Amino acid sequence: MTNEEKERIRAALNNIEANTVIDFREISGRDERAFRTPEHLLNFCFDELDSAAGVSPLGFTGVRDQDIRFQVLDRFGNLRNRSTIPRISSRAIYHEVFHALGAIHEHQRPDRDLNIRVNFDNMVSGPIARAAMEVIPGASTITPYDFGSIMHYSPTAFARDESTPTITRRDGSALSTATRPSAVDYDGINLLYRDIVDGEVPPITAVRQMTLTINEVESPDEDGGAKTAIDFYAKVEIGSNWNWRPGDGANDTQHKKSGTVEEDDNIIHPNWQFSTLLLAGQPLGKASVIIRDDDGLSSNERTDQTVDIAEYVNQGHVEILVDGNSNRIYLAMPNGEFDADEYLGDIGDPIQLTRGTEGEIRGSITFTVDIHEVE
Ligand SMILES: [Zn+2]
Repeated sequence: MTNEEKERIRAALNNIEANTVIDFREISGRDERAFRTPEHLLNFCFDELDSAAGVSPLGFTGVRDQDIRFQVLDRFGNLRNRSTIPRISSRAIYHEVFHALGAIHEHQRPDRDLNIRVNFDNMVSGPIARAAMEVIPGASTITPYDFGSIMHYSPTAFARDESTPTITRRDGSALSTATRPSAVDYDGINLLYRDIVDGEVPPITAVRQMTLTINEVESPDEDGGAKTAIDFYAKVEIGSNWNWRPGDGANDTQHKKSGTVEEDDNIIHPNWQFSTLLLAGQPLGKASVIIRDDDGLSSNERTDQTVDIAEYVNQGHVEILVDGNSNRIYLAMPNGEFDADEYLGDIGDPIQLTRGTEGEIRGSITFTVDIHEVE
């Protein structure tokens, strides 16, 4: 590597250090002492790669000494001249280092189809393109989908015809290519590492936390038999396409069960919280609550029934829209929009829903929605 190339790598690593809890330390050459330290080693090197500007293992592989390799061939397959300086872009450096820190591609997140369209018709065939564009189902998504992420592929990634994008937003509008990590990218690294790395964690700047707390639930008492349990389901979702957001990074629905509820004990105070992160500037959040009444029959006879707490008859679940600009909270209409008449209360207020009018089973729920800095 030339000095200019090393400087470019140092500059990128310095920026990552300045914005995250991560610290890098430079070790030159194959210093034997380095292999006796407990730290993880990243080697930056060049290689003749297939269809990639760079490659990096995802996260720490367990091999202490792992390579980040950059493409040394030009687009015609010729060795790049060392005088063509530098041979690596800042984007490639940031991108590969983020892989080494554990970040997958933004466009491979499980919720990507709710955010982007991929035009496979204009994409070169082959295993590399296919693997780089497929969804990774179990991947955890700890920050909201970020079109400006350094981990998002460019709009013409793997294009046959470069004049037509292979990746657009859902509405068809164009994306641009990030040349440095976004504030959301840095927040993601800090959220990932803040509990396991010593040192001061820079403030989380680009995301806020929305928390739905279920304060009280009055269970229905229609079945007359022994109620054994009441289930709660809550989801929080954000963004233009109302994509469901995972609350804990693993499940797209958070589900809690009350356990045994006694015959005359119809009111419980679970104080259950369901949280998600939303972009700081995001005006709207949405939460959904389902209460099911278990009639206590054996499993093959069981008839869990949805409790009616909305004014819309037989609505399976209640959706709540949170306007982060006005702090106002509305009951969503069945079409997903809200009417000013459906104003329920403000952020931070206890809100009670007992609006069922004709449902078979009716219950009530009191909840609070808060939007605050990530702690
Ligand atoms: Zn990549």
